[in-house]
Order: sequence, then structure tokens, then C-alpha cells
Amino acid sequence: MTIDCLPLPEILEARRRIAGLVERTPCGSSAHLSERAGVPVHLKMEHRQTTGSFKLRGASNAIVCLSPEKRANGVVTASTGNHDRVVAYAAAREGIPATVCMSDLVPQNKVDEIRRLGAEIRIVGKSQDDAQEEVDRLVAEKGMAMVSPFDAREVIAGQGTLGFEIMEDVPEAACVVVPLSGGGLIAGVASAVKVVNPKARIVGISMERGPAMKASLDAGHPVQVEEEPSLADSLGGGIGLDNRFTFSICRALVDEVILLTEEEIASGIRHAYASEREVLEGAGAVGIAAFLSGKLTLSSPGVLVLSGRNIDMDAHREIVCAEPRQFRDQDQSRLLR
Ligand SMILES: *Cc1c(COP(=O)(O)O)cnc(C)c1O
Repeated sequence: MTIDCLPLPEILEARRRIAGLVERTPCGSSAHLSERAGVPVHLKMEHRQTTGSFKLRGASNAIVCLSPEKRANGVVTASTGNHDRVVAYAAAREGIPATVCMSDLVPQNKVDEIRRLGAEIRIVGKSQDDAQEEVDRLVAEKGMAMVSPFDAREVIAGQGTLGFEIMEDVPEAACVVVPLSGGGLIAGVASAVKVVNPKARIVGISMERGPAMKASLDAGHPVQVEEEPSLADSLGGGIGLDNRFTFSICRALVDEVILLTEEEIASGIRHAYASEREVLEGAGAVGIAAFLSGKLTLSSPGVLVLSGRNIDMDAHREIVCAEPRQFRDQDQSRLLR
């Protein structure tokens, strides 16, 4: 059974459940981007969420919903990084043991932090699918509860609370731009936004390197794509050939999907840092990147969702310093004043 949108009561219920567990993040206008667009452009600052990404919303909702028996056996998950982190964090807060399975594409800074959060870590294979096989084994053999990174109603409902906040803060929003991987975020946000304004345009942004949802939407059914390393590593991974919810919701509610090159994603990270004074990971910067690239046009008030900030800081420094540093040739004393 597929669904075309997540019913509003499920999103409102999630909002009530997780109200004390997640931050209500700000949504302010960007002077730079608004001037460039000629219409107001707002930034939903979800990278400032506790743990550094929106994924805390969905995982918190899913974990709070677990039965006492499931809690006792512990939770297990596989993902590209941020989901593992929020599951570890939310489980620890509830006193539930957590195991995280990941492929060796996941950056070391994320692995270290998840271990610090108290989860047991298993590195298995070279892809999301290999990690998922290990999760399936632990669910079957140890009775652990799997917390899906995107394809569960509780998770989509949790992410939907972010869409609801956007429409409260920017009711005139005519276009909402959302980073897109497995589709949990955009499915929840689109479900909430289109209840308030059915005409609002929902745009998903992925990278050219392995855009699983775009390929699936084009094919008319879930398909597998080859995983490749990308600056937007949080957008890696498939949507699952047995996808239950996010594919059908995206097919019904997403108006357009835009794909970005690595250089375009780097420009988004650079702009966020230099002009907005924000540190973003690649996935968190794709909305800004799509606008700067000219691939996304905004002719009415828009909201760009900045979804996360968990980037290796050495990599971040390299990216923001890659542009010509003109101050080198200038009088250095000017900088010391
Ligand atoms: C997971 C993630 C996404 C994509 O979310 P989906 O629900 O898988 O589409 C975007 N940005 C960040 C920072 C993420 O961690």
C-alpha cells in the first residue's frame, strides 16, 4: 500500500511528542540571496539543530514510539552518518542500547563522534546495502528494533514538523527547497507545506553523483544507483528497492528535482561561510548551491532548508580557502585594525 502524503494528524502528533527533545530552529531572510533573487529568500537554519542535523526530529519520534519490549532489545540502524549520530544520541537519552552499522565510505569524524555518543559501531562492506544486510541480521537474530533513516511513517512525521515550522514562520512561502536523498525530509516537509498552501512549489536537490530518488522518479519505480563519494556525503545511498512511503510521496508532491556538480556544492559551502557566516556540510548547502548555480530560479518568496553542518573541519577549511585570496596582495595591517 502506498500513500500520496503523510496525514497531518501524524505530523501534529510527532510535534507534540518531540517538542521537548528538539530545538525549534530559526528561519530568517538572507540579505545577500534576497537581493540576488529579487524576492525574499529565507534560510531554515536546521543545521543548528541539536546533533547538527534535522534527522534528530524523525529518529526521536520513532524511538519515543517504541514498545518496552523493543527498548529492552535495543535499536540498530545503518545510514550514511547523520542518522547514526541521532539514533545514538536519542537512544542514549532514553537509556536504550544502540548499534550502528556503516559502510567504510562514512567519514572518520562521523564514526568517532557516534562512538563517543555511546553506540556500538560495526563497519561492514563498501555500500549502504552491505550495512543494511548486517542490520537485517541483527533484527532477525537479536530482536533489535531498526530505526529507518527515512522510510518509516514516524520518521517522515518527525521531519514533517520542520515543514510546519516553516509555514508558521514564513506563511507566504511559495517555494520550499529541500536537500533530497532517501526522501524522508522532503516527504515530511512537502506533506506539511502542501496542507497549508497546496500551490507551494517543492523542489528537491541532489548531487549528480548517484541521485537515487531522481533516477527512481524518472524510471517510475525505485531503482538502484551506484554510490560514489561526494561532498554531499549525507545525500548518498539508495531509496530501497522495497521502498514503502517516500517514493510514492515524492512522486505525488515533489514538483522538481535539481542535480548539482561537486563544484556547485562547494560554492554553496563557500557562500554559506563567507556571506551568511554559517558552517554547512555539503548536503546542507545544496539549496544555496542550486540557487547560485542558476539551476534554481525563485520568482516568489522562497525558503531554503539548510539541513546539516556535520562536515570534517579540515575539509571545510580546504573548501572555503579554495577561492583566490585577494587580501594576500593587500596591506596586511588593514586586517589587524
Ligand atoms: C539525511 C540528510 C539529508 C537527506 O534526507 P533524506 O530524508 O534522506 O532525503 C539531507 N541533509 C542532511 C544533512 C542529511 O543528514
